Amino acid sequence: MSFNELGLSPHILRAVKELGYEQATPIQQQAIPAILAGQDVLGGAQTGTGKTAGFTLPMLHRLLANHGRGGRRQVRALILTPTRELAAQVGESIIKYANHLPFRTLIAYGGVSIKPNLEAIKLGVDILVATPGRLLDLLTQRALTLTELEVLVLDEADRMLDMGFITDIRRIMKALPEERQTLLFSATFSDEIKALADDLLKSPTLIEV
Ligand code: AMP
Repeated sequence: MSFNELGLSPHILRAVKELGYEQATPIQQQAIPAILAGQDVLGGAQTGTGKTAGFTLPMLHRLLANHGRGGRRQVRALILTPTRELAAQVGESIIKYANHLPFRTLIAYGGVSIKPNLEAIKLGVDILVATPGRLLDLLTQRALTLTELEVLVLDEADRMLDMGFITDIRRIMKALPEERQTLLFSATFSDEIKALADDLLKSPTLIEV
């Protein structure tokens, strides 16, 4: 299926075209319409399937559609990843897909100075890609609030649990508004993942590739 048939904004299609993508991958064909419709998604997809564009492109479309409601610039989309490498990789992909859009993306992970994060937040961040520990540091320092969040993505949720982030994730959830769109991706589905998905997702669309 061509990207043009999926109902994405021309500004997003332009970036996709510039990256040389022609056909949407199977996960993209399933995820894009569901996310555009505002549904929560539970996705069983590995890296390499085009998962990142699958959640990012419709997320950007919705952020654009609700853009310009005024007020102070606050984080509207949060993508949680288990590792700094994945945060960097996902964040760089988002920046590419948002190349023609008026959004600022911050990639934040631990093990490096928090100061550049604080400076970026002062300038305004629309999309935050973060590892759980660094996000908690930012929240504890009251550097940002997530009260205006519209979409939460948990990427590689099984790895986050394997790495012992469950308590951090539950603490972060307390800072998020109830009314939001939530997308959870995981390569495997243990009872623990199912319980987390049960807590976080509302009538999710299931996507398996
Ligand atoms: P991901 O599974 O999101 O890590 O993506 C794997 C790789 O596939 C990345 O290098 C993407 O740039 C690329 N990719 C994603 N979607 C498409 C597509 N529809 N056509 C061609 N390449 C793609």
